[in-house]
Amino acid sequence: MIQRKHLPSIHVPHHKNTANSETVTMPIPDEVSISMSQSIGAPCSPLVAVGDYVKVGQRIGDTEAFVSAPVFSSVSGTVKAIEQVRGSMGGFETHIVIETDKKQDVSEEVRIPDIDSFEDFVKAARDSGMVGLGGASFPTHIKLNPKNLDECEYLVVNAAECEPFLTTDDREMIENGQDVLDGMRLIMNFLNLKKGFIGIEKNKPAAAANMRRLIEQNEIDDIEIVMLPSSYPKGAERVLVYEVTGKVMDAGVLPAQLGVILDNVSTVGVLAEFFKTGMPIIRRRITVDGDAVAKPQNVYVPIGARISDIIKFCGGYRKDPKKIVLGGPMMGRATKGDDSPITKNTSGVLCFGAEEAEVKEETACLNCQRCHTACPFGLMPSIFADAYEAKDVEKLNRFKIMQCMECGSCSYTCPARRPLALTNKLGKMMVKEASS
Ligand code: SF4
Ligand code: SF4
Repeated sequence: MIQRKHLPSIHVPHHKNTANSETVTMPIPDEVSISMSQSIGAPCSPLVAVGDYVKVGQRIGDTEAFVSAPVFSSVSGTVKAIEQVRGSMGGFETHIVIETDKKQDVSEEVRIPDIDSFEDFVKAARDSGMVGLGGASFPTHIKLNPKNLDECEYLVVNAAECEPFLTTDDREMIENGQDVLDGMRLIMNFLNLKKGFIGIEKNKPAAAANMRRLIEQNEIDDIEIVMLPSSYPKGAERVLVYEVTGKVMDAGVLPAQLGVILDNVSTVGVLAEFFKTGMPIIRRRITVDGDAVAKPQNVYVPIGARISDIIKFCGGYRKDPKKIVLGGPMMGRATKGDDSPITKNTSGVLCFGAEEAEVKEETACLNCQRCHTACPFGLMPSIFADAYEAKDVEKLNRFKIMQCMECGSCSYTCPARRPLALTNKLGKMMVKEASS
């Protein structure tokens, strides 16, 4: 019997405005810009040249690096350019720009994989191009092939979706619940896992009810739904693993080292679709929201579609967007302008007007300790901030800054509006540099 306890968390307004928005498909835009850097691993090299005609599902980027995932064309059309573009992380990345012909000709490469062994299964997972769709973008086939496979016993599916505004995972369970179960069954069978869990926040009653109904209908007795409090950050990897399985996961430890295979719920559902159709990941569901968007909704967008085309499909801007965030407001990344394309791990596009985007002025620390009590791991962000200012690496280490997962709970609760998550990130970089 698993003893379940909850870690400290914070209450943030949920803003799940699009929870009832059935996913709609945007039309193919005139042009897409597909990044070769769509996983946490090595970037891919282009497999096509300017002027080539490409089809939907055709492999257009790959690499032999171990941690990587191939990239596929989401459209049919002609390669217009292969260019260097500044990515959301600040560095340059290669993009393949395709002028679409709107015919959506499907590539001959697209076929249902033949699976006779575990090795076939892992190869097929790589051929799907899947990476974690929750935002981590870790290549899925690597997660499904841990070194200590014999010690792995649980599959934990992350359906917490604790970031405000985002409802893509919620909709996956409502619209594609059978795919989620089929994906779990595939993983559990090939990895010989004894039990599966789906961790869902309580603010998704319709999704939980649908998954329960499907589990009953399929007469499944080795998959359990675990309802989690609706608070932030229940979907963080280390928090979820602890709250679902009772296993304590330190920073730098992989879930598989604790016997747990952890995957995002949309990743599992889309992976199952690939095994049924042979179509690799060429589109994804994103939540489009924020007070600057005319029509917030969930949208299937082709990978590489630019934000400007997506917003146009959503009725355009209601007001001048002062801040555009890719992902959720807590851990997502602000992007400059709306020219950026979406990648496999973009779960949302949030556009905020001046009022919502306003950054209030920082004041002196009040020594209130709210940042400390908000931290799921009981860390002391105010001390990190001071130690970072003083360039005191020994103190940063002594207070365990490397345990910080940069969830932002401390910054959110700080009445002095100190940018604690940012100083934590910079402090971690300082520690890494000092030890290299
Ligand atoms: S950002 Fe780091 S220090 Fe702040 S609450 Fe999250 S884990 Fe704790
Ligand atoms: S929450 Fe802000 S004001 Fe309070 S102790 Fe932490 S850093 Fe200081």
